[in-house]
Amino acid sequence: MKEKSVKQNIGICKFCGKEKKLIKAHIIPRHFHLNYENETYAAINSKTGNWKPCKTGTYDKNILCADCDGTIIKRFEDEAYRILLNDIYNFAEYKYNQNILYHLTEKDFDYMLFRKFFISVLWRASISKAEDFSNINLGPYEDIALKILENDIEKDNLFKILIFKFPRNMDNNSIVYLSKIKIKHETYCLCMAGYYIYIFINEKNIPFDVIKYYGEFFLRKENLYILESPIFYQKHCEHLNTIWASSGKLYSYLKKKFEKYGHI
Ligand SMILES: [Zn+2]
Repeated sequence: MKEKSVKQNIGICKFCGKEKKLIKAHIIPRHFHLNYENETYAAINSKTGNWKPCKTGTYDKNILCADCDGTIIKRFEDEAYRILLNDIYNFAEYKYNQNILYHLTEKDFDYMLFRKFFISVLWRASISKAEDFSNINLGPYEDIALKILENDIEKDNLFKILIFKFPRNMDNNSIVYLSKIKIKHETYCLCMAGYYIYIFINEKNIPFDVIKYYGEFFLRKENLYILESPIFYQKHCEHLNTIWASSGKLYSYLKKKFEKYGHI
């Protein structure tokens, strides 16, 4: 009996709560790994900061059934993919040097689906036992995240999202990670597909400086703002170089991969 259930991977889906066949659910969906079909990319362990080369992205085969992953959650992913990887380029509102401010209004995007995408990534990482996400733990917010995803509640004061973008076609845009960052209280950053996304769990804990400079750019029903700048990319590369320099194990692998681009 035990053998059979292992083979078919029957378990309780964390989303619908039913006993079903569970599938390989990616924590960060595959399509947000640029060039995922051909290229190896570097995944960062959120706890140790160590790197490892990955091909398909981290998945967990014990959390979701095919219905929840392939229908409900997929709708969040489709909306995020449509905006972040395609339509964004139609909404450049303001350009200065190489800095661009993209602005979508409520008729241009589905706020609920788009917001839920980020919450769903964080929620999956939190419920997952995958080693790469072992320090992602939403604690009491895990159930709240699920209720938001299920449409039971909205809780607009939670899961505040701020999106920065790197210029297109930069080499380090294919780097993917989700980690807890050390700004006060619970804040996470999701780096994927050339974006750097802050998720502040509770708006009351957003640092004053962030509100002062970026307050109006937080995701809201009425507005989706995305800020693009080569400076963000430069900072990103500096940060990566610091990690690479202190992470000897994969340093040589990554150095070989990236040095031709002059980033190390
Ligand atoms: Zn399910």
